[in-house]
Amino acid sequence: MSRILVTGGAGYIGSHMCWELVGRGHEVLVIDDLSTGHEQALPPGTTLLRGQVGAPEIAAALAHEHARSPLAGAMHFAAKARVDESVRFPDLYFEHNTQQTLRLAQQLRELKVPWFMLSSTAAVYGNTSGELIREDHPVAPASPYGESKLRAELGLRDWAASGGERVAILRYFNVAGADPEMRTGQSTPQATHLIKLAAQTVVAFERGQASGASSSVSPTMQIHGTDYPTHDGTCLRDYVHVSDIAGAHLAVMESLMNSTTSSRDARVFNVGYGQPYSVREVLACMQDVSGVKFPIVEGPRREGDVVRVACDSRRLQAETGWAPRFADLKLICQTALAWERRLAARTL
Ligand code: UDP
Repeated sequence: MSRILVTGGAGYIGSHMCWELVGRGHEVLVIDDLSTGHEQALPPGTTLLRGQVGAPEIAAALAHEHARSPLAGAMHFAAKARVDESVRFPDLYFEHNTQQTLRLAQQLRELKVPWFMLSSTAAVYGNTSGELIREDHPVAPASPYGESKLRAELGLRDWAASGGERVAILRYFNVAGADPEMRTGQSTPQATHLIKLAAQTVVAFERGQASGASSSVSPTMQIHGTDYPTHDGTCLRDYVHVSDIAGAHLAVMESLMNSTTSSRDARVFNVGYGQPYSVREVLACMQDVSGVKFPIVEGPRREGDVVRVACDSRRLQAETGWAPRFADLKLICQTALAWERRLAARTL
C-alpha cells in the first residue's frame, strides 16, 4: 500500500482516481479548493487539504502530511478546464494550469517525492491531421486552455531533465461517463461537454413530463455544425470512459513505481480508444439508452471546433499493459445518464 497525492481529487476525473486507488488498497491525500469539486465525491477515509495547489498554507500542510506519512508519488489533476473561459481569461489559465503545476513539482522535489503524473489533454494537438493521433503528432493548441497545458508539459519536461524524479504526462481525449458503481460522476456546474449536456437534456425532459409541464419549450440539444467533411456532416471525437482514464493512471503509476532508473525525461501517453463517433451518433445513442427522443436542432459551427480527433494509444498499451475496460459508447451514455438522474433526484 502506498500513499498518493491526488490534486483535484474532489473533481470529476480526480474523484474517479481516488476511488480506484482506494479500491486497490492505497491511501490518498487530496488537495482541492472545491471550486468545482465536491467533498462528497471523496472515498471515506480520505484526507482533504482544502485550498489551492501552491498556496503557502497548502504547501505547509502538504509538507506536514508528508513528514507524518511519506507520499510515494503525486497525480496532478487540479486545473481549470473550460475552453470558453480560457479565451476570456488566458492569464488565469496560465496561472492555474502552468505556474501552479511547476510550483507543485518544485515542492515535491524538495520533499523528495519520487514520481509525478500530470493530467493533460488532446487539446495540445489543436487541429489534427491523419487518422489516429500519436504522441509525436505536432502540437499547436487552438485555445489558451490547450496552451496552458502544453506550457505545463514543456516546463515539466525541462524540470524532469534536471532531477531524478520519474514523470509521466497523460493526454486525454474526450472524457465522459461515470463510475459504473455510481460512487462518483461529473457534478461540475455549467458543463459544456456533449455527453453531459445530452444526459442533462434527458433528465430535464423527464422532469418536465413528471411535473406534467405543458410548456411549448422543451429541452433541446443543438448540433454545432452539420457541414463538416465527415460521413454525416458532424464532428468526430474519441469518447473515453472516465474509469478507463483512471485505469490508465494506475497502469502508468505501476510502471513508474516498478522502474528502477530515472529516465530524466517526462514520458507522454495518449489515452483514448481510437474509435471516433460523430455528434449525431452520440445523440442517437443517448436517445436510445434513455428512451427519450429529445428534439435535436441543427445550428452553426462552434468557434474553435476541429473536425476529427481520434487517439492512437498503442504506446500506453505497449509500455504499461493498459487495456480499456469500458470502450463502449452505450455504456458511456448509460453511466453518464444514470449519474445525472442521481443528481436530479438529490435536488428534487
Ligand atoms: N457539441 C454539439 N452540441 C453541444 C455540445 C457539443 O454539437 O451542445 C459538439 C461540439 O461542437 C464538438 C463535439 O460535440 O464537435 C464534442 O464537443 P465537447 O464540448 O464535448 O468536447 P471538445 O471536443 O470540444 O473538447
